[in-house]
Amino acid sequence: MVLFAMLFSLVATIRGERPVLQASDVVFMYAPRDKKLYEIYSGTVVGWAGRSRSKDDKDVYWFRKQVEEAHKFGLKYCGSVDFVVDFGGFIDFCPDGFEKAICRDLDGNPLTVPWLWDHRHNGHPAYWFCTNNPDYRAYLKEQVERACVADIDGLHIDDWRGTSACSAWFGGCFCEHCREGFKDWLKAHFGEEELKRMGIEDIQSFDYAVFLKSKGVTKDSWRAQAGNLPLADLYQSFQRESSLKVVGMVFEYAEQIRGKPLLRSVNSSASTPEALRVAPLVDFFCGEMEHQANTKQVYLEPAFVYRLVEGLGKRQAATAGGYDWAFIAEKEKPGMVRTWIAQAYAFGSVFMVPHHQWCYTQEKGTHWWEGNPEDFAPLYRFVRENASLFDGYVSLSDVAFIYTDEGFDDIRGASLELLEKNVPFSVIGAEKDRGGIKKENLEKFRLLIKGKGSIPKEIEKLARQEKKKILQWEGYDSLPWEFRNQVIVRGSDKLRVSLRYKPGSANAPIVCHLLNQDYDFERDDVRPVDIEVSLSKALLGKVLKSFPGKASVYIPGKPMQKVNLKISDERISFNLTNLGLWAIVVIGG
Ligand SMILES: [Zn+2]
Repeated sequence: MVLFAMLFSLVATIRGERPVLQASDVVFMYAPRDKKLYEIYSGTVVGWAGRSRSKDDKDVYWFRKQVEEAHKFGLKYCGSVDFVVDFGGFIDFCPDGFEKAICRDLDGNPLTVPWLWDHRHNGHPAYWFCTNNPDYRAYLKEQVERACVADIDGLHIDDWRGTSACSAWFGGCFCEHCREGFKDWLKAHFGEEELKRMGIEDIQSFDYAVFLKSKGVTKDSWRAQAGNLPLADLYQSFQRESSLKVVGMVFEYAEQIRGKPLLRSVNSSASTPEALRVAPLVDFFCGEMEHQANTKQVYLEPAFVYRLVEGLGKRQAATAGGYDWAFIAEKEKPGMVRTWIAQAYAFGSVFMVPHHQWCYTQEKGTHWWEGNPEDFAPLYRFVRENASLFDGYVSLSDVAFIYTDEGFDDIRGASLELLEKNVPFSVIGAEKDRGGIKKENLEKFRLLIKGKGSIPKEIEKLARQEKKKILQWEGYDSLPWEFRNQVIVRGSDKLRVSLRYKPGSANAPIVCHLLNQDYDFERDDVRPVDIEVSLSKALLGKVLKSFPGKASVYIPGKPMQKVNLKISDERISFNLTNLGLWAIVVIGG
């Protein structure tokens, strides 16, 4: 307890700049057993790396050593807090009253976490504890304190949605704090007359569980169709807001203890509107994304997610899913993993170091795969050695998709189509809870595209004021030709182009990432290809004042080389022969 007491005598005010995850960062998901891997991979961040098991000196010492070792190799270290999986810790923390904090179904029965069905603690199943319960919130703070016993640089939250996930899909939560909380939320949001129109006669005595049962809702029908039942959308809004408040509380508490802003992340693939809601509270998303390894091809959907988070000024630190890693483990295909790494970095996000990967299949259950550093470290070192071609860069485009949560799927589909056809675009979100759209968000685009359904009136108005056209997406053919041909690739239909520039830096060059995604499963490598790339001079001219006759080409494992640029009135083009996995062509600057 001595070390711990010393730490808390040092609680200070929060000072310093908020750290961010840079595009050239090399992230370890967990701290590796062999610390030499930090150096071998040129690591810069440990993303999701636990906390002291207890406040005892021995445990505190162990955790501090983890953090110090990472610091010694120059890495930032993010501790972590678990909103759902550490049920055993809470049972020990609150042995005489933990039952009161269990999420309840409509009949008041305790709920357990479905995916932890095989876990037990002191004979208890994995209860789903409610993030609206004050005792459980106290436990989350206690976890924060244990993460903050060392000089951490960031904090990660696992299962950040807490009880709002339980209420969305798993039959909860009708504990007294959720019912009371919803009543207060309704009172704060609606007047008496409005409440009456919703069927609530007396808000003082309102109890949502009783209300639902009076309408014939059962615990099973709630679980099956929570989204469509009376007041359920409002209930979910309440739960969502509560979860976000707890996320904010946890980050702020950690920053108070450490006396500095921390690198904030949550376990998530930022691939749905629901997942994006937490964006204003975090610096990056850190977690698994499906890569469909079993298709034996490079899966493009992650590139859409990388564009999506870029539109919010964030990044995804990605890894593949348990099924993907199981496939890689069974077939031993590191070459496929290299295509994932290159794709993430070429689109401004990060693919975490594959040193120790969780694999899962129905037949084999949980197992692990150890990536061989020789297969991957050169790629990560390439990124670090050329950090200036990554950091501060964003997509260069004239076209922006505007999405609302309602029209999200439409924009997702359209984005995937344009990714495949190499049309440069950005994605910007219209929803106010993630910052909405301001004048400066629209300035740099010539064409705005919306999906089916409406976008907020104020955005339509803003676009008119800015003299920007808003096109309704009707498929690729509806896109004017001048945008369709901004990037033309000859020689391969499996080459992806990502054009990036550095806003606010007048002398920085444009970088043109070329990803060869013609993956040959048998050889576990891409098929080399000769290509010609032709780019719209007008698009490049948004950034460059003049066009040099040569460009520099950076390729992993090769010395930098020069390539001639052919410049005509409207186009700039170049040829590359025998192109492997990835090249970065640097134009101007
Ligand atoms: Zn509850």
